[in-house]
Amino acid sequence: MPLLSVEQLTKRFVASGPPVVDAVSFEVHPGEFFALLGPSGCGKTTTLRLIAGFERPDAGRISCDGQLVCATDAHLPPEQRGIGFVFQDYALFPHLCVLDNVQFGLSGRPRNERTKRAQSMLERVGLAEFADRFPHQLSGGQQQRVALARALAPSPRLLLLDEPFSNLDALLRQTTRHDVRTLLRDEGVSALLVTHDQEEAFTLADRVAVMNAGRIEQIATPEELYARPQSRFVANFLGPTNLMPAHAEGDTAQSPLGKIQLDRPAHGPVLLALRPEHLALLPPENGSGQNVQAGCDGLVTSCHFKGRDLAYRIAHAGNEYLVYAPSQTPYRHGDDVVLCPCRAASVVEEL
Ligand code: ATP
Repeated sequence: MPLLSVEQLTKRFVASGPPVVDAVSFEVHPGEFFALLGPSGCGKTTTLRLIAGFERPDAGRISCDGQLVCATDAHLPPEQRGIGFVFQDYALFPHLCVLDNVQFGLSGRPRNERTKRAQSMLERVGLAEFADRFPHQLSGGQQQRVALARALAPSPRLLLLDEPFSNLDALLRQTTRHDVRTLLRDEGVSALLVTHDQEEAFTLADRVAVMNAGRIEQIATPEELYARPQSRFVANFLGPTNLMPAHAEGDTAQSPLGKIQLDRPAHGPVLLALRPEHLALLPPENGSGQNVQAGCDGLVTSCHFKGRDLAYRIAHAGNEYLVYAPSQTPYRHGDDVVLCPCRAASVVEEL
């Protein structure tokens, strides 16, 4: 049984306008880390707020741990849903010390039990010695960990995380992400993360739902999403890609790059995607390499050093293709090359 089940969730803020959340459905399984990924304004936070119980939907149902927490005629208040949340700005109480912030969600339990649990959570996030400090005496990363300890102290079934790492610098973000992932795994808590950062969703989540304009376009593992995007939006949102129209004939297609292998059988007009690292460059004289499909002539129109890779733009038959090649690749602006797909192209849409 899923831990969280969201069915056909719909929310409008303006009666005459389009829904901000439009028939959204997904499930989070016990112990799973699930991410809602999408551009700013696509409805991620609103979806999270509906699940938390801070907003009421116009339609749809939400169940948590088999219990219906929200439907058109049912609304369990946030504090009764067994759900914890960590907000982007951490939302710590400025007038309470760290220990009292963490104890806050434990009201109703005996005082010594509350203190013991809060202290043990602070230990878990490495902040035991900061218990007497106030939020303004902590760094952003430390505040984030206090917010996490506070959210986890009441042992929620599910933790909602709304862009929780966006206020941290790049290095701290990486280590904090890792710590959070480990902590949630150890505590056996399922998580639903909202982010616009593809790398964040991919490094943390077991499965990712890509959202666009209020709708979920695809739900899959990070590997599957990256390798087999099922819409033009998903293909583009998950990093640079080469999109091309083609005519599919089963396992292969006639494309602007010649006959190309497909990742799944299709027939008729299709839209294909090939990531820049799935194209290879060969010298013109031995273009028919061993590990690549038939190539076609191209001209290097730009070449940029990116550290580990070189990013090339290659012109062929009126189109430009982006290719990432190892930094020792010898071609430069103006060189003739052979452009070869080295992976099957993914069928993004059947047109
Ligand atoms: P971001 O990543 O920028 O936070 P998001 O994907 O989380 O974006 P939401 O915050 O869910 O997006 O907002 C979706 C849309 O709903 C936006 O156009 C926003 O302006 C609108 N919206 C959100 N809350 C309200 C509200 N209380 N009243 C009116 N419109 C709202």
